[in-house]
Amino acid sequence: MHDRLDNAACGLLTIDLQGHIISINNTFSNLVGFTKEELENNHIELLLNNANKLFFHTILYPKIRTSGSIQEMYLTLRKKDHSIINIIFNANMFEVDSQFLIDCIVIPIQNRIEYEKEIREINKKLTQTLEEKTMLHDKLQQHQAKLVELNEQLQLLASRDPLTNLYNRRVFVEQLDLYVQSFYNNHVPFSLCIIDIDHFKQVNDNWGHNVGDDMIKNLADTMVSMFSNKFTVARFGGEEFVILMPEIESYQAISYAEQLRNKVKKATWNTIELTISLGIATFSHVDNTDSIIAKADYALYESKRNGRDQETHADSLNRTFSSESHYYKRRGST
Ligand code: GH3
Ligand code: MG
Ligand code: MG
Repeated sequence: MHDRLDNAACGLLTIDLQGHIISINNTFSNLVGFTKEELENNHIELLLNNANKLFFHTILYPKIRTSGSIQEMYLTLRKKDHSIINIIFNANMFEVDSQFLIDCIVIPIQNRIEYEKEIREINKKLTQTLEEKTMLHDKLQQHQAKLVELNEQLQLLASRDPLTNLYNRRVFVEQLDLYVQSFYNNHVPFSLCIIDIDHFKQVNDNWGHNVGDDMIKNLADTMVSMFSNKFTVARFGGEEFVILMPEIESYQAISYAEQLRNKVKKATWNTIELTISLGIATFSHVDNTDSIIAKADYALYESKRNGRDQETHADSLNRTFSSESHYYKRRGST
């Protein structure tokens, strides 16, 4: 064998068709731990365990005989010290002096097995990390869904009065601003109706605060059933309520107010007869959010002053309102 091939980076092995070893290089000799003398002219079976002998004779030899070559075949060899070495080999059959020989190159694959093990480990870790990531992602999504739900609940809490479930004063003010804008932008008319229960202190005094609460809830439910499909109904505070009535004329607003007043008067919640007073104002070009509240409130005050259980429209009163006049300010001064 040529000197350089003797120490090639792969084992070289030549056998005949009966499996006798014709020649090996140093690299192969070092690989299996046998000297050249110990192997050459010996049978390849010296390097094979029983399972591999069978493999060699039933698969390998027939294949190389029929196709003339073998590529990347995996095999284990038994070393002189009986330990096992994993190899892959390529083989080519060729003819010399009318004798068929087989040249094999042999490469140990211990490193490759280690690499594969490492890759498998890394893959396992990656899969675990991926699973963890998916789990965390799922949890995050659950938390986010919860947050959205909580946020919706918060929004609801922030916009509703807890006793009546009507919109609270904040929502009313926002809605009023919107209505004022659409009055100016799209000429949508609207009226505001303020409602106050008559002599409500007496209800509390005579029947207790809980009964008073029930009355407030009953009135709220009545207003919702009559108006919530077309108007905004809100609790303004205490036993006072507001209804924003868009897209109707002032006479219609008065009519709705009257219908509500009559309904409340006819109801006998807890056998208590309740009446309400109402003040109505219809938005005009001289108005702003403060002045329309002041107008409706002044009309309510007139309803009270004239004996309660009635509705008054601000336009029927001969009074001008400055934009500074405010509900509480004016009420405090009367
Ligand atoms: P008026 O006819 O002049 O309106 O007489 P009034 O007794 O109703 O007087 P006013 O409107 O000034 O008083 C309202 C009372 O309503 C005062 C307060 O004790 C009571 N009130 C306010 N909020 C609540 C509530 O949430 N529950 C109960 N039970 N009572 C309330
Ligand atoms: Mg009141
Ligand atoms: Mg009252």
